Amino acid sequence: MSDTDQPPHEAAWSLWPRSRAAIVSRQAVRFALTGVLSCGSVLPAQATTPESRCYGTVSHGRIDGSVKLPGSGPNFTGYSTLGATAGRTHVHSKVAQTIVAAYAAVERIDPTLRYVYGETGWPSGGRFRPHRTHQNGLSVDFFVPVRNAQGQSVAVPTDVTNRLGYDLEFDQDGRYGEYRIDFPAMAEHLYQLHVAAKAQGIGIALVIFDAAYLRRLFATPRGPYLQQNLPFMKGRPWVRHDEHYHVDFAVRCASASDK
Ligand SMILES: [Zn+2]
Repeated sequence: MSDTDQPPHEAAWSLWPRSRAAIVSRQAVRFALTGVLSCGSVLPAQATTPESRCYGTVSHGRIDGSVKLPGSGPNFTGYSTLGATAGRTHVHSKVAQTIVAAYAAVERIDPTLRYVYGETGWPSGGRFRPHRTHQNGLSVDFFVPVRNAQGQSVAVPTDVTNRLGYDLEFDQDGRYGEYRIDFPAMAEHLYQLHVAAKAQGIGIALVIFDAAYLRRLFATPRGPYLQQNLPFMKGRPWVRHDEHYHVDFAVRCASASDK
């Protein structure tokens, strides 16, 4: 799996200023197209799927037998069919089962909620530009659930005009245009992810989300549970996480040097 054909300036989000709106669209298309020719075979995310085997860490690793996340479900969609076709939505089988189970659990509680997941990783893992981690099938980006001006839960817009969602910039009140972050819906999702992960015999190793919003997240009905049970990153992440939350799942992996 190779994504080394990207120009050096795309090696990091931080070198990709959000203010350069004129080039965002072009960059987004290139970003989405990265690795179009590098897809491996994929397996459906079903209980019968052979278990994936991960190696190393999220920042230096790889994966055998990954599965591609389903493109959509009753209450969720992926961020980009282009990105999915390019092979950017592969995960460990246990992570896939956890994600699908969590969406199903949320749906049972409130079928009106809509969610969008973002980038995960390559079919065989490894360096996944412009992300620093996402290397062994255990890292997943989820876009914040939002409500529109009518108060309806809707899929957050992710297209080439906002670099497939990653350039959405919410203000300090959690608003972007007509959209506002649905913190209770996000908290419910994180809660169900944790419950589903435990049911799969795995865990959650790290959650990264904008520190300024954590207070809002913890003020929701699921907030106290999240605060007590989930490992939120302390301090500032290297790129602002206002439009998405990053989750590293905890799965026992082989050493990076294992064959
Ligand atoms: Zn991420």
